Amino acid sequence: MNYTKFLSEESKNRQPSPIRALAPFLARKEMISLGAGAPNPETFPYESMQLTLKTGETINVDAAHFEKCLSYDLTSGFTPLNLWLKGLQKTEHKPKVDYGLTVGVGSQDLITKALQMFINPGTHILVENPSYTGVLSFLRSQPCHLVGVATDALGMVPESLETILRDWPINNSSSSRPSVLYIIPSASNPTGVSAPFERKKAIYAICQKYDILILEDDPYYYLQFNEDRIPSYLSLDTDSRVLRFDSLSKILSSGLRIGFATGPQALIDQINLHTMSTNLQPSGVSQLMAHELLEKWGYDGFFAHVKKVASFYEAKAKLFLELLDEHMKGYGEWTSCDGGMFVWLKMLGGIKDSKQVILEKATAKNVLAVPGACFLPNDEITPYVRLSFSNVTKEQMSTALQRLASVIQEEADA
Ligand code: PMP
Repeated sequence: MNYTKFLSEESKNRQPSPIRALAPFLARKEMISLGAGAPNPETFPYESMQLTLKTGETINVDAAHFEKCLSYDLTSGFTPLNLWLKGLQKTEHKPKVDYGLTVGVGSQDLITKALQMFINPGTHILVENPSYTGVLSFLRSQPCHLVGVATDALGMVPESLETILRDWPINNSSSSRPSVLYIIPSASNPTGVSAPFERKKAIYAICQKYDILILEDDPYYYLQFNEDRIPSYLSLDTDSRVLRFDSLSKILSSGLRIGFATGPQALIDQINLHTMSTNLQPSGVSQLMAHELLEKWGYDGFFAHVKKVASFYEAKAKLFLELLDEHMKGYGEWTSCDGGMFVWLKMLGGIKDSKQVILEKATAKNVLAVPGACFLPNDEITPYVRLSFSNVTKEQMSTALQRLASVIQEEADA
């Protein structure tokens, strides 16, 4: 596939950092470098690193790895971690196409860099309606237009995508048809629902028909409650049109700030060019904390861990859905969630705009939720709110839902 036609002028203009471009040569044992102005590690005060797990086990971090990670390293991440993650993608997604991988400062770092490489002034980007507010706020700062594609209880609606693309241009504008789709297929933020495989296949076929690149943002993939995880877009890609984003935030630690992008090497290279001229690389120490544990676990240990994490959220979701039934019937409508940590709830009681009700009335009663408008591509008015059950006890869930129900009742009475 030729990706040049997808790239923005800014992205095409990116040049490798002359110094970072030399880094691969350092791997040669006989190389004497008078090149990069790297600080001498002898001056660093750190001697060693030991990790203690909640199980009580300790990991003495490999001394050579520790030394390497204290210094500047490759843009695409600490090589042993990069390779471990590449192997994970092979084991889990069995990609049918060649793929490269790069590590970033959380997946948000990589998603925003990737999106930026497709945006020229006036570009239209396809997003789900609703979609992740963090990426929407980035996109709102860009000189692009967002095209919301309808979703239902099974994620993005293929017919909605097809109609938009078939009937392009909208409003008789002269703008070119979108060529990039940003999608959150598993346990979506904010809806908590996952697209079944059949949906994914239908959406992939439409993207093939209209030559659309798919940016698959999947940080909740391993938080699907069903152990038979729904295959990813990466796994069904046959044209190298999928760029996938994973995150360690929800399964190891969000403070590590580690995410990874997997997809066509040409696009991974473009992301790396961006990193070279901005934040240089992800933190070596964070990568080491992740790598040493992942290597100790191996893939089987990793899968056992994510199963535990998914079960943790599944138990919370079950409780939350039961309490929604108990306290919110008649006050709200919601879809069940099949993974992750969110429920997308429509406030009843004649409420049209959840924003004002949440920000003024609900907070006054000490209950917080995120107004749905934050997740809509064009700030539309909506009665929806995003509720998260990840960090609350059963008692807190119950109290919060009763408070929310009373807010809605008061609105209905007003
Ligand atoms: N995508 C989605 C859908 C998310 O919900 C989040 C985190 N809230 C991210 C991306 C960013 O995750 P991170 O940068 O921590 O990997």
